[in-house]
Amino acid sequence: MVVAKKWIYAKSFTGYPTDENFRLEEETLADVKENEFLAEAIFLSVDPYMRPYMLQYPIGSTMIGGQVAKVVESKNAKFPVGAYVHGNFGWRTHTVCNPNKGDPNSPPYVLPDFGQEPLSLGLGMLGMPGNTAYFGFLEICQPKQGETVVVSGAAGAVGSIVGQIAKIKGCTVIGIAGSDEKCDWIKTIGFDHAINYKTADIDAELKKAAPKGVDCYFDNVGGKITEIVRGQMNTLGRISVCGTVSCYNQNKAMVSDPQRDFVWKQLKQQGFLVWQWTERWLEGIQQNFKWIQEGKLKYRETVTEGFENMPKAFVGMLKGENFGKAVVKV
Ligand code: NDP
Repeated sequence: MVVAKKWIYAKSFTGYPTDENFRLEEETLADVKENEFLAEAIFLSVDPYMRPYMLQYPIGSTMIGGQVAKVVESKNAKFPVGAYVHGNFGWRTHTVCNPNKGDPNSPPYVLPDFGQEPLSLGLGMLGMPGNTAYFGFLEICQPKQGETVVVSGAAGAVGSIVGQIAKIKGCTVIGIAGSDEKCDWIKTIGFDHAINYKTADIDAELKKAAPKGVDCYFDNVGGKITEIVRGQMNTLGRISVCGTVSCYNQNKAMVSDPQRDFVWKQLKQQGFLVWQWTERWLEGIQQNFKWIQEGKLKYRETVTEGFENMPKAFVGMLKGENFGKAVVKV
């Protein structure tokens, strides 16, 4: 008999989450049946999307999210005992999974061989954030050599990868992040310029860093930063709208009407959900892995120890404490 621990969404989020939004519970799991397997979490992900997404779920739901887990019991030959899997099992230590049930956009899968790289990358550069950067940047921004690219949320899981891919494509890359330390770090991984949005005059610094204007903007944050970057976009510029983390903990709109720039500069802006490329999932992971091996992609992770610290890691990430991908080690 296996008893799982799980984090419950105990109270509706308003503003930044606090301890009272979460409750730790135990659940006795049913036996593993035909086609099912039992997974034991090793690393769990905390991601910005959890903040807005949970609002759609009833109070009392298990917190949603991806994890890297080990198969410890199985009645499904595709998920043998000992395999490491990625599954969107939520904030739980143990899960009985029937891979034929659940969201078809994000089925569980056995992780490809990461060689010497840590399994936690299955939640970061070699997982959903890596594919978000790979597809969301290349497919939507279609960067060309010599162009100028701006990335907001630049020291985070997705942004730090986008900036490096932009360098691989021969672009000049400007990152916007929330501390001097983060700005220093992204320059060590290849960004040409970094702007600390908390202390700098973003508009003035961006004009200096991008004297010929901005061709591509990968937007992780929305809000005021986006309004400023959009003001410096070139004609026929491309904006990939990945997320609006600056708004997730706010309850009001914070920006002015953007339509004028869109019309006068003929900008193209496209939103996306990474699940659009589910069919090409392994392509993204394999390309990013190749770039890691070639030394072209560098990663950093912020690892919080202990399943009991899931809420702490989540709030810390929302407040910008993470460099690169934020994960929790059980
Ligand atoms: P990150 O690792 O970037 O962590 C979140 C970061 O957001 C923090 O570290 C913090 O960095 C930054 N942040 C917090 N508040 C603000 C603010 N007010 N203004 C500017 N930055 C802020 O997270 P991810 O890389 O996982 O996600 C980045 C974005 O991509 C999010 O918007 C997320 O929702 C989106 N996303 C979208 C997907 C899709 O399919 N469309 C898939 C995956 C992610 P700092 O210290 O710099 O402030």
